[in-house]
Amino acid sequence: MRIAIGGMAIESSQFCPHRSTYDDFRVTRGADLLGRYAWTRPGAGFAAEVEWVPLVHAVALPGGPVERDTYDRIKSELLTRIREAGPLDGLVYDIHGAMSVVGLDDAEADLTEAVRDALGPDALISAAMDLHGNVSRRFADRLDLLTAHRLAPHEDAWETRERAARKLVGRLASGKGRPYRAWVQVPVLLPGEKTSTRLEPAKSLYGRLAAVEALDGIVDAAIWVGYAWADEERCRAAVVVTGDDPDLALAQARSLAQEYWDVRRDFVFVGPTGDADTCIARAVASPARPFLISDSGDNPTAGGAGDLAYMLGRLLAHEDLASGRVTALHPGITDPAAVAACFEAGAGAPVEVEVGGHISAGTGPHAEPYRLTGTVTALQDPAAPAPGAPRGNPAYDGGGRSAAVTCGGVTVVLTERRRPFHTRADFGPLDPSAYDIVVVKIGYLEPELYEMAADWLLALTPGGVDQDLTRLGHRRIARPLHPFDDAGFEDPDLTPVLL
Ligand SMILES: [Zn+2]
Repeated sequence: MRIAIGGMAIESSQFCPHRSTYDDFRVTRGADLLGRYAWTRPGAGFAAEVEWVPLVHAVALPGGPVERDTYDRIKSELLTRIREAGPLDGLVYDIHGAMSVVGLDDAEADLTEAVRDALGPDALISAAMDLHGNVSRRFADRLDLLTAHRLAPHEDAWETRERAARKLVGRLASGKGRPYRAWVQVPVLLPGEKTSTRLEPAKSLYGRLAAVEALDGIVDAAIWVGYAWADEERCRAAVVVTGDDPDLALAQARSLAQEYWDVRRDFVFVGPTGDADTCIARAVASPARPFLISDSGDNPTAGGAGDLAYMLGRLLAHEDLASGRVTALHPGITDPAAVAACFEAGAGAPVEVEVGGHISAGTGPHAEPYRLTGTVTALQDPAAPAPGAPRGNPAYDGGGRSAAVTCGGVTVVLTERRRPFHTRADFGPLDPSAYDIVVVKIGYLEPELYEMAADWLLALTPGGVDQDLTRLGHRRIARPLHPFDDAGFEDPDLTPVLL
């Protein structure tokens, strides 16, 4: 059994001014690619007769739309490697599902059509996806198996990929060929921060999937929330139930889709929300330390630019923070020029820099740079990679220099590259628990931040991934669609299509 592995994964916001280029992707091939997946090792539980064939895999930190030549380059390499791989029985297709490419609609369908053409009609394609991906009919039609994370935050991300591989191997071993897919979209578009599976109704809805999957005649069941920060017809929730019993697959897909529709108004933000000033005032007044605030509109891991100084300005506008009576740590505003200026000044030196708003220039008053006067309190310069070494994604490698500047009670971390602060290790030498307030560019809190937070608020801040979808100005999504058209929106036809 020869099974290839490859794909291209990014979540990219069409409302974000950033453009994702080839350098933003971590591209792996050969042994490095197989090294991503522990289950490809000998003795990992797969039959010895499975030969894993690494193609190419490209993954990037979420951002703005992918430049067309970057997409074409990665697509072309993937297709070439498929054609040169020799006979293949299947493909584990490791993608996200919310890729926006400049000048191209339904990028995943475009890529998948080309992959299907290169593979030929007989090989089975098993897609492992993020539940924030979109699933158009055109896209699902070219796949044989498709599954998605069942948890948000995605603590099951690697389990999802392994499930896609196991289902594919099981399918090929059984000789049953291509299963049916019952596909249906649900005219609901929700921001990720309203669909955490830690909370109802997503908890119960996603909790049903394992039981559906276990039914005789069903192979897999998946629900996609869809991606709210792209403006395409495909952006909406979807359900796919895969199986050999077409009537059962149709009935289960219909039932899951109906439940999603029925509970659409019950989805709430994962935590208490407020505008920036309300959240800051409540955090200052609270005895809970550290108090975390999510600057959700500029969350780089959802596709935000990550360079807005909006929250920095709001923090320093609060008297208790400006005076230092209350302390706050605010990582990380992307601004390479400001980082360079801090390195030039040196640790302990005073510095005056225009911070943020370069990627986001011109997108609105919230994108104005902030004139910061403070002291350089920390500098971090991770060792440069050896010459000729493969370049990883600095965002995920924690690469790039960073500088901390303190003004009054506020310490802001400026970064050379767009990067997330999700784990304790991401903060480097700065200890977030030593501050009264920690403001992170994130939506719902990733596990280590969640553990750390004595209390927490989700600030509904402006930016490329604004959680208030109605503020963004979608024009091309298919209507009617909840929450845009709630008045007089009659119950939709949720009859699945059998693919
Ligand atoms: Zn996701």
